Amino acid sequence: MLNLYREKTYPPRCPFCRAEVAKPAELAGGMWYEFEGGICRCGAVFAHDPTARNGGAVLLQALVQCCHGDWDEALSLAPEVDYDEGFVGHYNSLTHRLESQAFGTLVFIRRRSQP
Ligand SMILES: [Zn+2]
Repeated sequence: MLNLYREKTYPPRCPFCRAEVAKPAELAGGMWYEFEGGICRCGAVFAHDPTARNGGAVLLQALVQCCHGDWDEALSLAPEVDYDEGFVGHYNSLTHRLESQAFGTLVFIRRRSQP
């Protein structure tokens, strides 16, 4: 493929520990997991919003992921008390790189106190 302008791109990194994260994948263990996601080695979970229009739903899914599928627990958590949020924008899921033209977002959640 001819590519006249070679943009410098970067792999996505966890906003909490700066480790490179794996490509989001289909999540097992819940039919309602609508978005692809994954987990960082530091314990943060993430979900991929491919359109940047699903923000609330993706955030909620990430919360439930970090509660191992427990909706009640997820809904009882308070931001900046029980967990921290992080957002990595300009994510291209096809190349698994951050690119200025890309408009996907990775939504990260990390619990402050692991049970
Ligand atoms: Zn991490």
